[in-house]
Parts: sequence; C-alpha cells; structure tokens
Amino acid sequence: MNIFDSALLRLKKAAKYYHLPDWFIKQLSTPERTIEFNFLLKRDSGKIEMRRGYRVQYNNLLGPYKGGLRYHPKVDMDEVKSLAFWMMIKNAVADIPFGGGKGKGGIEVDPRSLSEKELERLTRQFTKELAPNIGPFMDVPAPDVNTNAKIMDWIVDEYVREIKDQKSKIKKNELKAVVTGKSVKNGGSKGREEATGLGGFFVLEELIKKLKFKKPLTVAIQGFGNVGSNIASILYKNGFKVVAVSDVHGAIYDKSDKGFNIDLVRKCKEEKGFLSGCYCIGSVCDLAKKYNDGLISNEELLELPVDILIPAALENVVTDKNAKKIRAKIVFEMANGPTTAEADEILNKKGIMVLPDVLCNSGGVIVSYFEWLQNIKGQKWSLAKVNKSLQKKMKESFEEIWKIHKEKKVNFRTAAYILALQRLAHKAGL
Ligand code: GLU
Repeated sequence: MNIFDSALLRLKKAAKYYHLPDWFIKQLSTPERTIEFNFLLKRDSGKIEMRRGYRVQYNNLLGPYKGGLRYHPKVDMDEVKSLAFWMMIKNAVADIPFGGGKGKGGIEVDPRSLSEKELERLTRQFTKELAPNIGPFMDVPAPDVNTNAKIMDWIVDEYVREIKDQKSKIKKNELKAVVTGKSVKNGGSKGREEATGLGGFFVLEELIKKLKFKKPLTVAIQGFGNVGSNIASILYKNGFKVVAVSDVHGAIYDKSDKGFNIDLVRKCKEEKGFLSGCYCIGSVCDLAKKYNDGLISNEELLELPVDILIPAALENVVTDKNAKKIRAKIVFEMANGPTTAEADEILNKKGIMVLPDVLCNSGGVIVSYFEWLQNIKGQKWSLAKVNKSLQKKMKESFEEIWKIHKEKKVNFRTAAYILALQRLAHKAGL
C-alpha cells in the first residue's frame, strides 16, 4: 500500500465513529493543491543541475496552510501529500486558531552532498519559484527534516525581495511571518527549536501519570536530529533512562540499562558534525566505540525490551515486518508517520499502546503558531511564556484524546483523528 493510502485509512477508521457526509470525507482525503516544479542549482564547481521541489497545500478550512519543508533525497509527491495530510489532522488536534491550513514542502536533495553556499542557492531558488504561492496569510512553511532556522532566514530574505515589486497588501512588519522556525534574531520565537521535543515530553508525563507508571522508565529513541536529540535531553534531565539512541549511521545501546548521559552524547555528535548550525552528521557511532558491544543497528533498536520506544526520524519504520517483534510497552511517535496502518493493527493486538504523531509531535507547530502570532502582533514572548503556553496546549489536546479513547473505547490514534474530524466538521458548519 502506498504511504498516502495508508495515511487515509486512519481517517476512514475514525469516520466510522463520527459520521459525516461522504463528500466531506472525500474532501479531507484529497489535497486542494499540489505544486511540483523543477529548478536549476549552480554547484560551486560551476556545473548546473536540475532539482525538483514540492509543496502540497492540503486544506485551508481552519486557516492558512501550514507545515514544514523537508530536504531529503527520498522526498516525492506521495510522501509530501501524506505529510501535508498529517499536518491538517495535527493542526486540528492542536486547535491552533490560525492552524487549519496545512502544507508540506520538500526538495528531493541530499543536503549532506552540498556546501553551505550551495544549500543557500538551492533554498533561494526554491523560494523564488514558490514565492507567489506562500505568504503570512496564505501558506507558512517551517523547518522539518534537514532544514533549520538558518534556512528559514534565507527564505524570508528571498521572499521579501521577491514580492517587493508586487503591490502586496501585507504590512512590512508582517512579512517575516511567511515562515516560522526562524532564528530568534530574525523574528523567530524563543523555544521554537526545542518545542517539538518539549511538547512530546509534556504529553508523556501526562500519559504516565494516567497509567500510573513509575519512573525510572527505559527509553529507546530512533533518530538524533532536532526532535530526537531534544527529547532525549529533556527525558534524561527528568528521570527517564535513555538506554538507546541512533542516527543514520547506527545505534548505541547501554545494555546495563543505566542509561546514557545525553549531554555527552550530544557533545560528541556536535563535535563530529559538519556544516554546523545547518544539521549535524558525524555521529553517535563514535561514542559507541567506547561502548563497544553496545553498537546495534537502527532496526535492532526498534525491537529492544524498553518501556518506551520513540521513533523520531522518518516514516514507515514500524511495519508489518517488524511490528510482531516490538517489545516496548508504549510506542511514542515523534516522527511523522513512523507506524504503517498494518503495523498499527499488529501492535493493537499485542496490547502495545501507540501514542500518535499528530499529538506527540505537535509542539513544533504549536510554537510555530506562537511565533506567527508574535510577528503579526509585533510582540516578543519570554521563554517562560512560550513554554507555559505550550504545556497548556499539549495537556488540553491530550486530555481530549484520553476522554475520547475512554468513552468510545478506541485507540489513541483513532481518538486523535475523531477529535480532528470534530473540529474540521464544526468549522465546515456540519
Ligand atoms: N515540521 C514540523 C511538523 O511536522 C513543524 C511544522 C510547522 O511548524 O509548521 O510538525
């Protein structure tokens, strides 16, 4: 089954519990607009290459389209459509007043093969092509896999230059709200970088309270990018034992179950990474040498006997092939779409709780909303205000989902989709 069809299955399942007209479900199963274009990139060597960019503007029932921009060699239209669909559900679950808009964009490129100058040229050219289709009240991109504040800053700069000659009604001070996840000095929000990880932590704390689980709990985290590394640090500082972490090169596992000092792991990763500030590569594997026999593969990490498994990298990692072997009590999805629909069924049968992406990783887009709001209103929030407001929102969404989960006796994913359907239907006057 292709990834988009698999994503839609969850919507269909929720629609069984919350009846809506067929045309509405069809509307939510179809992106409003898909944009795909080719553009040229000049390499440092002078060589010219063709690149392909995507943006899917899924549905703007609740507000401007909103969602991240991903740089990855495996980006394709099916993936971008799925990511945009999940953004629609996520924004509805997060109940962000502007947030009904969803979109997701991507460039099919391996950013690690580019120099920083090439990365900048790629970003600026992509923005030039996309400029007529984005804007603070139309479609607001943000960071995602392999993109960050520096890249968002280039986008604002290029966007402002590009629309300068057009008679835009957007006020000058509002223009920087064209993207979120910018650097703080360029209008970004304090706390945005850690927001996805912190938001996840707030939900996890609420969940274990409800389940009456006692700390210390063991955790395995797949992925050590922005999301994985931040949630690892936060959990480490809050009494969880992070016993396994991984990046694209492989995983390290502390068999003693004492858990890693995540500060050390991060330091090691930062030291080994290159193109600092853009994304780090280099690796936790180097640290693994110290732990010698603790070197395992990404696949093995998923099957460890831990309390909580956190996929925090890419989609489709828990599938019908490995779901039977998962031994965690809770799968806590910080990546978008890490569990396939088939795997969901298997995990359900095994009694493994799956906390869905559209709730767990919504902290990022929630603080994106706070950033957008600060830009439009000309405000600057303190970190304490951002984090407090984030905590409130995450708790509220979790409570709503918990209630539906109990009342309708459905799993957490279906409960989250029912909540999203309720909000979308309400907005559509149904
Ligand atoms: N890329 C993030 C996500 O998947 C953030 C999106 C945003 O802030 O708009 O939720």
